[in-house]
Amino acid sequence: MLIKVLLPLAIPRSYTYSVPEELQSQIAFGIRVEIPLRRKLYSGIVTHLDAETEDLVNPKSIISIMDRQPIVTETQLKLWQWMADYYCCSLGQVMNIAIPSGLKLHSETRISPMQKLDDHLANLTNDNEFMIAEAILNNGEISIDEIAKILGKKSVYPTIKSLLDQGLITTAEHLIEKYKPKTQDFIQFAEAYRSKSKSMDEAFNLTTKSEKQTQTLLALLTLSPTLDWVDKGDLYKKVQTDSTVINTLIKKGIVIKEKFEVSRINSNHLEVDALPPMSDAQTQAYKQIISYFEEDKNVLLFGVTGSGKTRIYTEIIQEVIDRGEQVLFLLPEIALTTQLVQRLTVTFGSDVGVYHSRLDQHRRVELYKSALEGNPIFIGARSSIFLPFKKLGLIVVDEEHDPSYKQSDPAPRYQGRDTALYLSQLTGARVILGSATPSMETYLNGINGKLGVVNLIHRYGEAVLPDIDIVDLKQMHDSKMMRSMFSSPLLHAMKTALNQGEQILLFQNRRGYSPTLQCGTCEWNAGCPNCDVSLTTHKYYDELRCHYCGYRHKTPQECPACGSIKLSKIGFGTEKIEDELGKYLKEAKIARLDYDTAKTKAQFESLIYDFEHQNIDILIGTQMITKGLDFDNIGLVGVLLADKIMNFPDFRANERAFQLFTQVAGRAGRRKKKGKVIIQTYNPSHAVIQETLKVDYAGYYKRELAEREEFRYPPYYRQILLTLKHKQQEKCISVADFLAERLKAHLGSRVIGPAVPSINRIRNQYITLITIKMEQDWDTIKTIKEIIKKEIHSVKSEKNASTVRININVDP
Ligand code: ADP
Ligand code: ZN
Ligand code: ZN
Repeated sequence: MLIKVLLPLAIPRSYTYSVPEELQSQIAFGIRVEIPLRRKLYSGIVTHLDAETEDLVNPKSIISIMDRQPIVTETQLKLWQWMADYYCCSLGQVMNIAIPSGLKLHSETRISPMQKLDDHLANLTNDNEFMIAEAILNNGEISIDEIAKILGKKSVYPTIKSLLDQGLITTAEHLIEKYKPKTQDFIQFAEAYRSKSKSMDEAFNLTTKSEKQTQTLLALLTLSPTLDWVDKGDLYKKVQTDSTVINTLIKKGIVIKEKFEVSRINSNHLEVDALPPMSDAQTQAYKQIISYFEEDKNVLLFGVTGSGKTRIYTEIIQEVIDRGEQVLFLLPEIALTTQLVQRLTVTFGSDVGVYHSRLDQHRRVELYKSALEGNPIFIGARSSIFLPFKKLGLIVVDEEHDPSYKQSDPAPRYQGRDTALYLSQLTGARVILGSATPSMETYLNGINGKLGVVNLIHRYGEAVLPDIDIVDLKQMHDSKMMRSMFSSPLLHAMKTALNQGEQILLFQNRRGYSPTLQCGTCEWNAGCPNCDVSLTTHKYYDELRCHYCGYRHKTPQECPACGSIKLSKIGFGTEKIEDELGKYLKEAKIARLDYDTAKTKAQFESLIYDFEHQNIDILIGTQMITKGLDFDNIGLVGVLLADKIMNFPDFRANERAFQLFTQVAGRAGRRKKKGKVIIQTYNPSHAVIQETLKVDYAGYYKRELAEREEFRYPPYYRQILLTLKHKQQEKCISVADFLAERLKAHLGSRVIGPAVPSINRIRNQYITLITIKMEQDWDTIKTIKEIIKKEIHSVKSEKNASTVRININVDP
């Protein structure tokens, strides 16, 4: 019997193995098997049960079978295959991120003593050899990592090699299962008492001398009157007892103890809140969605900020789980949306599994497996698209426009929203794409009728959209109406809001203190040694930091170039704004929400809690404050500098700017009182500023789509971005030139570049880009992808360019 096995490696093919007679009956699609490859052991997934011998004379044999039940479904494998084809990567790369690391194993070298080691120990004169030999003898079998830890040093290989050569130790490869089920002690009355062949009185008679034992038995009875197993932890909570007491009771034959596997996933039965009734507008939207679903159409739910999209999702989710089908709820980034996760858990209780990257390995495995078992609802960021659903009925992609749905590194460089739409084709599950600012791609699909469009144009309840004011920064500077980064209209509005007891959000798209440290004498600029960017000053850490590679350096007191002490911190990050604002609004409680203050989920949650409970008056933040936060009392939202966002060198800059301004404005006035938004800019006549000001969705989409079409950008054309990276700029450019030339021979004017990006070096790698623009035609696109892959392959070998890294990013 020959099978094909897929491994989580960036290799282009799957491998064929033979199955020994005695294991053949247990082989099934989707289970893991242990296989040897290049002197290591791996766990791979069985993808074909009928592989051909082909060129294999003597296929290697699998070693063992690791699962009783498949851990991957046929649907998943189809999805992976589509992703590998569509996003131009290998199936192994997809598998690598699709399966929790606890289920992907590769071997570890274990070392064990040979018989004569004991006798030879005393003869070992080399200290290192002696220490290692002793550690091996003491521990029996031991891994190289463990040896390194025991000895407190990294380099142990030479010593191990020497011991091996002397025939004192031996090595072997072992596959270690990383996932360990959690077990817990449970206690119950012994069989005689449960079957009533002995009476309870007899039990208590045996413990009359010990108060503690009697109490423990009583507690056991209260916790389980039916004499079932009781969790030892619960018993300990109920009564002051310990293991000596339990052990005595076991010896007396009154109780028994056993270990059982328990789940790590929170299975507490949460209090579930009843849902409020839907408004008329919500009911209307809900009905439209259902009728599109009946036509087998997916839906764009285009609802302004605060229109109550969540309430509509919950209605449909309930129906889907009542039918016994599963729901996947995708969110931009889990930590940023704790409010929504909370709302869904309050509604659906323990049916909800929250799948995110910060879960520990074991919990991830358990959640993954719970999908196979049919757990009804999963919430997660883009990678939860890889869960193994049993019967998927609905995918909600909330904030579908969010850039974090696209993974740009490593491969597969996939778009979670688009993958959800493909998964819908595979499974028949319906998709709702929800947003107040739909992406151009989704909007156009709506116009073309590929998606049903459902609109919610008013906020829920009495809330209305806020008033927006634009402040012209040039004019403010000219008439001396600026205090630091704050124009007088903004300062005035902040004071008014504070006087009325309202809270304020200030948005600045830059963390740290200031983006540049410059010498006033020689114009020296603090730059990153590894990247082509300037270092950001951080006051709290008293450091210069690179936001691209993480490089840090203590802030210098004098210019490293000329020794002058005239160093100035130019520009404003959130940290500086927090500092400066305190000077003008002395009474206000000011806090900051950005990557530096909310590194952990706990920090993030505590800031949100404080803002929610009005312990904070003004919250200054980066993008983090734009995403889905829903607070009662925000009277004012300020955007400190709109220009950087609109001028970003990317064809989506205007789209991102409109989304950002509209979303951040959407945090204001979400209850009864009308909110206010102030946007500061040097370019008040900019189209996006005007469209935001007038809430002119129609104008925005019309202008943006026309521009995209004219300049051959998505969503009318497709793009593939090739990124070349190398330590030497010349090599990077010359290989890019050569590749572009080869591509142009086939693809003509579809090939743009090579071009050097505005940041042309990151982590000591120079970067060169080639863009390919393609017409929207699946056959053409497929052919072009083949050409690209072929040319990259041949350029890499021909031009001696194997050290140049070339990434393919489809739909960047
Ligand atoms: P969106 O996601 O569309 O911006 P939300 O779902 O956050 O809007 O809803 C805005 C606010 O209105 C929330 O505070 C929500 O609790 C409230 N809300 C929405 N629908 C209802 C309803 N049917 N009954 C009561 N409150 C609602
Ligand atoms: Zn200087
Ligand atoms: Zn750097």
